[in-house]
Amino acid sequence: MMSKTDSALKQNEEYYRRLVQDANSIILRMDTKGRITFLNKFAEKFFGFKEKEILGKSVIGTIVPLTDTAGKNLESMINDLVHKPGKYVNNDNENMLHSGERVWISWTNKALFDKKKQIKEILCIGNDISKIKEAEELLKQMDKRKSAFVANVSHEFKNPLCIIRESLSGILDGLLGHVEEDQRIMLESAVKSTNRLIRLVTDLLDVTKIEAGKMKLKKERIDIAALVNEVIADNNADISKKNLTLEKNFSSNTGFILADSDKLTEVIINLLSNAVKYTPDGGRLTIALSGSNKDIRFEISDSGPGIAKQDFYKLFDKFERLTAERQEGTGLGLSITKDIIELHKGKIWVESEVGKGSKFIFTLPRDLRE
Ligand code: ADP
Repeated sequence: MMSKTDSALKQNEEYYRRLVQDANSIILRMDTKGRITFLNKFAEKFFGFKEKEILGKSVIGTIVPLTDTAGKNLESMINDLVHKPGKYVNNDNENMLHSGERVWISWTNKALFDKKKQIKEILCIGNDISKIKEAEELLKQMDKRKSAFVANVSHEFKNPLCIIRESLSGILDGLLGHVEEDQRIMLESAVKSTNRLIRLVTDLLDVTKIEAGKMKLKKERIDIAALVNEVIADNNADISKKNLTLEKNFSSNTGFILADSDKLTEVIINLLSNAVKYTPDGGRLTIALSGSNKDIRFEISDSGPGIAKQDFYKLFDKFERLTAERQEGTGLGLSITKDIIELHKGKIWVESEVGKGSKFIFTLPRDLRE
């Protein structure tokens, strides 16, 4: 006769057995050699193995392929996992069904210890995420195709736009004869709009190049103070149109750096044109430039609206605009700027407070190699 406690124990055991067997997840255990010591009904059905076919066998070659489709060595991963399960608490990896079909499973792994506190077994609970992986892969492919499309279209736009700009500028310069005042106003506005379009397609081309890892840097010896002065001179018209005062604070040790001159010009244009764009009429801008043996430091401060701390991290994201409706722009400038600085192994950040203006700062190593 079974005692009352015996039968209660048995009932309890049955309860937990059902819990594991009825679960809609793969539940299995393996020893420290990667051999399967237990699998639930769901796992049997999922992998297509009968319990007796697989118990005592290594997971490698049964439910885990030696290498995954991308070539990752899963045998060494399992060897590592059985000794350091803490590294693999949450782990997604490719698995294999009895039929040979590959699937992706999201696993949680937990070490089970013996009385001597040595790892005895690993408890693994898994869920099939193949569909999610497929969808992710599809999105990646679509994103790649979309980027290639944007790059092609931008490229196709750029050449005719440049020709339009040249022709309009030629007419403005009087190549076809005298230009009346009202014609000049119209031509200037057409050149301005064309310039905006060229800027936009150049930005789009830059973004797709950076995304594809295809932006290559030239290495040129640059007089950094001269380059900054040139950008300021090119933007003088916009600065005076808004009645802004610009203070320059260049130290004498700025010297030369090895960098890509076109890209660096783009960075400074982006920062200066933002400062001009976002600062109300009559405001103040300061550009400071200094250097050490190792790097140079550029700072541009403005007396504009400033930026809230919680928005700092967003500023440098693609298409992110905090003042979208109020000003022209695409939200690409700062993202490209950051990518160019980082390609040069430099750093860029912002210091600001709402209502107290903004300061954008970047540092660049003197030599691209450092
Ligand atoms: P865009 O100017 O085309 O919108 P950017 O990437 O250059 O794109 O800038 C992103 C956002 O950062 C801007 O939309 C604006 O809200 C904010 N921003 C950039 N520079 C300044 C500045 N000097 N002062 C205040 N806000 C700025």
